[in-house]
Amino acid sequence: KEVLLKVTNLKKHFHLGKNEILKAVDGISFHIYKGETFGIVGESGCGKSTAGRTIIGLYDRTDGEVIFNGKNVHTLTKKERFSFHRQMQMIFQDPYASLNPRSTVSEIISEPMEVHGLFPNKQERLQRVYQLLEDVGLHKDHANRYPHEFSGGQRQRIGIARALALDPEFIIADEPISALDVSVQAQVVNLLKRLQREKGLTYLFIAHDLSMVKQISDRIGVMYLGQMVELTSSSELYRNPMHPYTQALLSAIPIPDPDVEDQRERIILKGELPSPINPPSGCVFRTRCPVAMDICATKKPDWKEMGNNHYVACHLYEKNKTWGSDYSQVAV
Ligand code: SF4
Ligand code: MG
Repeated sequence: KEVLLKVTNLKKHFHLGKNEILKAVDGISFHIYKGETFGIVGESGCGKSTAGRTIIGLYDRTDGEVIFNGKNVHTLTKKERFSFHRQMQMIFQDPYASLNPRSTVSEIISEPMEVHGLFPNKQERLQRVYQLLEDVGLHKDHANRYPHEFSGGQRQRIGIARALALDPEFIIADEPISALDVSVQAQVVNLLKRLQREKGLTYLFIAHDLSMVKQISDRIGVMYLGQMVELTSSSELYRNPMHPYTQALLSAIPIPDPDVEDQRERIILKGELPSPINPPSGCVFRTRCPVAMDICATKKPDWKEMGNNHYVACHLYEKNKTWGSDYSQVAV
């Protein structure tokens, strides 16, 4: 498998004022293979959107390394950066806010092509717009209408068409279905899957809902307070969640089959998500962890490989540590 994107120790800290630093993303590492969907899941405020925006280069001052197609995106020349932007596009959570209300659908989808000098011939560009509309399940008659004339699901399709206009290789989808009615969420997910097959796309799919990420992702990274706490394949994560936070997230997903009695215990996390301005010492999850130990307050857990390409950052999995009875309480 070929790696398309490699992120190493990525950080995005916002300096809010004297001695106040918001550590939105605080040292995350992962890679994404060509053609796969990598999901990032976590509560709002965990830094997942900032991670996506940092990868695509929306902020100048960042720490760590982002290698895309073998190139370090933070050291690109201006010209390289321009063509890099063709290969990496973003789909946003709120399709309405990201579409200019005064532009027609055709203008919205054409804009990136104009900026990049693609299809300079107007007629050809229009044909391309029609094709893109068809690709996302809309009709060419929609080209001259305005965003407010469409439903939420249709607007997200327009956003997807715009993201596809430059024929990118990689798309970062930041909660692309969270704002949509449940009834249309599956349609948009299916559309994204079809486009991935047809166009050989690679996705970074960001969401706060684990059940949603599960449907679409090959591998998943779980984020908490700016850090990645667990990472493995989608199936392994559901079979064998190791981090207490992942176990809590999973326990909140209802069993889809109504005939199966759900005997699992819900793991209710105590307290609120702490502020990333003043994160807890040691393990960032310790203030809400049902099985926190003394060491968790003083030592940040290392990122450990547990076999099966399963990575976790938690002191429960320190070498030579035998799991106490406490552990069985959180096992799903
Ligand atoms: Fe809980 Fe400690 Fe593991 Fe953090 S390191 S998740 S506090 S057991
Ligand atoms: Mg967000």
